Amino acid sequence: MNTQWEVVIGLEIQTQLATKTKIFSGAATAYGAEPNTQACVISLGMPGVLPVLNEDAVRKAVIFGMAIEAEIAPYSVFARKNYFYPDLPKGYQISQFELPIVGKGFLDIEVEGETKRIGITRAHLEEDAGKSLHENFHGSTGIDLNRAGTPLLEIVSEPDMRSAKEAVAYMRKLHELVRYLGICDGNMQEGSFRCDANVSVRPKGQEEFGTRAEIKNINSFKFVEKAINHEVERQIEVIENGGKVVQETRLYDSDKNETRSMRSKEEANDYRYFPDPDLLPVFVSDELKAELKAALPELPEAKKLRFKTDYKLNDESATILTSSRDMADFFENVVKISGCESAICANWITGELSAALNRADLEITASPISAERFAGLVARIADDTISGKIGKQVFEFLWNGSESADEIIETQGLKQITDTGAIEAIIDTILAANEKQAEQYRGGNEKMFGFFVGQVMKAMQGKGNPAEINKILKAKLA
Ligand code: ADP
Repeated sequence: MNTQWEVVIGLEIQTQLATKTKIFSGAATAYGAEPNTQACVISLGMPGVLPVLNEDAVRKAVIFGMAIEAEIAPYSVFARKNYFYPDLPKGYQISQFELPIVGKGFLDIEVEGETKRIGITRAHLEEDAGKSLHENFHGSTGIDLNRAGTPLLEIVSEPDMRSAKEAVAYMRKLHELVRYLGICDGNMQEGSFRCDANVSVRPKGQEEFGTRAEIKNINSFKFVEKAINHEVERQIEVIENGGKVVQETRLYDSDKNETRSMRSKEEANDYRYFPDPDLLPVFVSDELKAELKAALPELPEAKKLRFKTDYKLNDESATILTSSRDMADFFENVVKISGCESAICANWITGELSAALNRADLEITASPISAERFAGLVARIADDTISGKIGKQVFEFLWNGSESADEIIETQGLKQITDTGAIEAIIDTILAANEKQAEQYRGGNEKMFGFFVGQVMKAMQGKGNPAEINKILKAKLA
């Protein structure tokens, strides 16, 4: 068979909201505590206890809804989703079903230079479950209920994505957005931002969607891409061999790069959803919406546009410098403190600093060089105290120590020599020692000019002012 296949993907992303306490109790949500030390009676599902809604979780959900230009439900309802699992002692998860807090919105993604709008169906509040621990229990499984009751915002997309690349772009964009908004710490290793991917294939041109499989619990951008691509291949193979894709939940095994069947997909009515009688409906007032709207931070798109117009940055620099709110703040601080042109600040941040951060696998917030110290470096390059080349040396000292750029330049004797007398003297010696090369240059071999610049720089240990050297050399070689 030689059918052309089209891939259809919809993502459900679980975002842990960065509240101090759980969604229905005052227990702490901090990650990494000893097992079950943050499991209060409500997290444990003790009989007779009553949940009380955390207002901060509602506020954060509304903030998200506004950022994707969604309708915020004036009235939403918590429902019980009934199922059994060892990490869910109550026997049901409190979620939202028919009336979620955030309605239809969208997110624009960019893939291969093209912008595409991905629809967001809804986003609802729910509680996270506990965790099963399979290690160190001698063949048994331990249960840690610290995570039970951590607020989640589940963001459900329309089946609008058509490739693994688009899915990754969407997930990254959403990850950037929730961090910009300050509603989620985005830590994927700790499970603060995870994703279920719904994947199906259909023959190109066919209107109707194919049967989908849902791949559960993917917690990295790399795995999303791999898991989807793998699943697409598997489905195509099944169909081309005359089989049928069954609707089911699959698990991605990153070690083997394959997906495995977990269980056949349950339908919504298997869960016997019903409104939770212990919780009141949630009313979001116009006043609350107005208050949150006024406090909404500048969003990534708007910031990028402003960086391009105000700082005259090209698209690539603007993209890197607005990749997180912290990165953008760092750049703006460097511009402000150094008083230098934005271009030179941008170059050194997207160049030297970004490379060093990447090598050390550090976020800008953990940069060993503060915006202040970095501004000191840029300022000395801009005012010609040091050349760009020496700037790289100073950068190394800044990265590995605590001195300021000025102190480093002073103690290491790295100041650029602009004294024309000193430069002339060195140029004279070099010309005298290389008469043959000078003749070649005068005879039309222009490449020789570079040779002389190199020689002079070497003699001056890189500290000669390049512009002066060029000027004097030109005059002497004329
Ligand atoms: P359910 O309520 O049964 O989980 P939904 O209709 O709410 O199903 O869809 C859940 C997710 O699956 C959404 O992100 C949606 O975009 C996606 N989805 C639905 N149908 C398909 C399909 N045929 N192929 C890929 N994704 C799909």
